[in-house]
Amino acid sequence: MAIFDNSEIKNEIVDSISQPEWLKELNDAQKIAVTNLNGPLLVLSGAGTGKTRVLTARLAQLIATRTANPFNILAVTFTNKAAREMRKRAVELVGPMAEQITLGTFHSVGAQMLRRNAELVGLKSNFTILDTDDQLRLIKQVMEAEELDLKRWPPRIILGLFSRWKDRGLTPEKITKSETGDAAQGRAKSLYKSYQDRLLSLNAADFGDLLLHMLTIFNENPDILLKYQQKLTHIMVDEYQDTNVAQYLWLRLMSSSHKNLCCVGDDDQSIYGWRGAEVGNILKFEKDFPGAGIVRLEQNYRSTGHILATASKLISHNEGRLGKSLFTSASDGEKIQVAGYWDGTEEARNISGHIENLIKNGQLLSEMAVLVRAGYQTREFEERFIAIGLPYRVVGTRFYERAEIRDALAYLRLVYQQSDDLAFERIINNPKRGLGEATLQLIHQLSRSKSISLFSAATHLVLSDELKPQAKRSLINFVNDITRWHSTCSSNSPAELAETILEESGYTTMWQMHKSPDAPGRLENLKELVTAIGEFESLSGFLEHISLVMDNEAQSKDGEVTLMTLHGAKGLEFETVFLPGWEEGIFPSQRTLEENGGAGLEEERRLAYVGITRARRNLFISFAANRRIHGLWQSAIPSRFISELPEGNLTEDMEKGLSIGRVEPIMIGEADTRVGKPGYGPAWQRMASSKGSVNVSAPVRGDGGIIEQKRQQVSFIVGDRVFHLKFGMGNVEGVEGDKLDIQFDKAGRKKVIASFVSHK
Ligand code: ATP
Ligand code: MG
Repeated sequence: MAIFDNSEIKNEIVDSISQPEWLKELNDAQKIAVTNLNGPLLVLSGAGTGKTRVLTARLAQLIATRTANPFNILAVTFTNKAAREMRKRAVELVGPMAEQITLGTFHSVGAQMLRRNAELVGLKSNFTILDTDDQLRLIKQVMEAEELDLKRWPPRIILGLFSRWKDRGLTPEKITKSETGDAAQGRAKSLYKSYQDRLLSLNAADFGDLLLHMLTIFNENPDILLKYQQKLTHIMVDEYQDTNVAQYLWLRLMSSSHKNLCCVGDDDQSIYGWRGAEVGNILKFEKDFPGAGIVRLEQNYRSTGHILATASKLISHNEGRLGKSLFTSASDGEKIQVAGYWDGTEEARNISGHIENLIKNGQLLSEMAVLVRAGYQTREFEERFIAIGLPYRVVGTRFYERAEIRDALAYLRLVYQQSDDLAFERIINNPKRGLGEATLQLIHQLSRSKSISLFSAATHLVLSDELKPQAKRSLINFVNDITRWHSTCSSNSPAELAETILEESGYTTMWQMHKSPDAPGRLENLKELVTAIGEFESLSGFLEHISLVMDNEAQSKDGEVTLMTLHGAKGLEFETVFLPGWEEGIFPSQRTLEENGGAGLEEERRLAYVGITRARRNLFISFAANRRIHGLWQSAIPSRFISELPEGNLTEDMEKGLSIGRVEPIMIGEADTRVGKPGYGPAWQRMASSKGSVNVSAPVRGDGGIIEQKRQQVSFIVGDRVFHLKFGMGNVEGVEGDKLDIQFDKAGRKKVIASFVSHK
């Protein structure tokens, strides 16, 4: 490892140029990184030390010193937004010629290159990039053709396996027995090959292919590789800690001739291990590029002393790290406020209160962010912000506008009111039940000619012979389902009804079977929807609420509060950051711990580090003692991360008399004897240290959110005259639980489910 000697370089800088704008503010170490333009260089340093700024300055420096033409430069960022911002800044610094820099994400640059060279791997340049839906359909077809048991080997698992192989740059030929194990009855390798062949025959590529194919092209066509090496003479990469092996190999090949590769990153911010990122790439860098310059930036320019100390202390609990020291010349600032709240609603209410206070003190909404662990957590905040008219933006999609939430709402709307034609159209074939365009057209025709709703038209249609048998069966089921759910509207709680509908319609199952990486998030959103509904007494009340929420988008010239996930916040900074939901199970996420154990915990801790270091001046961390999850109250335990924060940099959020006192009554077991005792240390620690004792009591406050199991069935006795949608009128001749034996007037004797028939 060659660490530059600062004194030597300084002279060089002073001699070479008279301090252009992008160099003026930089510290010595940053200047070294910006002015050493040739040869391999790794900038490895903590959050907020100016890594991204260095990269941008380097673009300007490369161009201004004529070390490279703009079109000779490739810069890779983690998001398209980051690329846009970097380009904008570069244009400001050196003018419009910065437009010619190749600047984008691995995916976008990879796609561009592959289109130019598609025929070399058997694709045409207009190939389609498949979304995860299509990928899943394709792998299913391939597996069915090979007669594999899809239950035993769920396609999404197999597809996941292929993605990981692609992340590691492994084409089918490179797969060894030890890679495949017994997956897909030991046939994973040939399956992978078939899947790849199928993609080619469709003139399609999946995300992993964008770089994988380029690797193949480079390896098999030295002339093409040479062309790129000659064209892109200077390569730079931001957020290097989150590159996977394929990306790494791609960078290494392209820079192997000129070795002008500059990577910046922070091992403590590696948060995409679950998507194949390899922190080890950082270590490999020094090996593959012997003599590479290593620059460590140690001054943090973003955050106050308290914030920086808190972040450093937390991350020191991770074992697998390179280790680094950070300092700031900024003042200590305000201590980090840690607070526990009674429940999520109170947490959202208090955070909104803090935001309002900050606005009064002149802070802009655009300088504040609420960062959550999982997408579904935005819901509670959105509702609160809407209620008080606080402008906000969700990076991603607002909760009630997410596709799965709109689908679920359409079910509820149709069940509540069968004449809701828009809802009908949205869900008639969602999940797919063989009711395509042709059926829908017939329904539309009938609805128009009789001036009745689509649903009524459907109920008429199923009594006729207009439809093909399979469509008819499907439509009958659909109509029966809606009718049945409708009949339980008044007897079931709305949350219970929603759960039943999502289950019985197959909608939840559809997402469970989905391979896309966002499927688990969508399932969480659906659960959160049920939680939201749990706060309402009636379905009508909830739907009324929704129509108001959907209609409400506060605008403000001072911008909006940002609501987003921690993953999305990487690289960003805000004056004030709120980190709610620091509870065991939520953060660290239960799923990550279960799937990845200790390594998973360390990745969650890095995510917490990313969250803390987004804040410039004010940081609020909070947890709730109770959460309504899936409509049921559960008590929560403060995240272990809270007990890992340095006490001296924290302050309890006392201003509003929040929290701690109020959560005491529900703590049970060992903690009971300690909590509330004076002198036992700060409350967040008392709470955190009680993590061994699981509280099983439910809160009995507010609207008594515990859902009673009161599934009411309409009862029938022998002799009742009943109507069944499919079989018509009949007489009940036997009752066996919820099954009825009915002699139908026209259809003869049948056994039917009680909820499918009604009294006449
Ligand atoms: P992260 O690890 O979070 O991506 P980073 O290392 O990329 O952080 P930057 O975002 O580049 O850090 O910089 C953090 C903040 O510090 C920015 O507001 C940036 O403008 C500022 N900054 C960086 N270097 C300096 C400097 N020498 N003088 C003043 N401000 C600086
Ligand atoms: Mg950065």
